[in-house]
Amino acid sequence: MRVAILAVWVVMAVVALLPILRGRPLQNPAPPLSTDELVKDPVCQTYIVRSRAVTRQTAAGPRYFCSADCAARFAG
Ligand SMILES: [Zn+2]
Repeated sequence: MRVAILAVWVVMAVVALLPILRGRPLQNPAPPLSTDELVKDPVCQTYIVRSRAVTRQTAAGPRYFCSADCAARFAG
């Protein structure tokens, strides 16, 4: 008799917990960091967020700077 009651409690606990355990991964997808990756300023060696960096196209590809001053120093 007691074992049956215990089994009912265990089943109820599992049924109550399963949606929580299954819901967690879906509620926390990968953080959206791809648009704000860090890039290095080749002049002053500072890391800046790419969306806020000053961009200059070069023969070797785009270069990112913390400010227009650094971009001018790189070119000149
Ligand atoms: Zn800089």
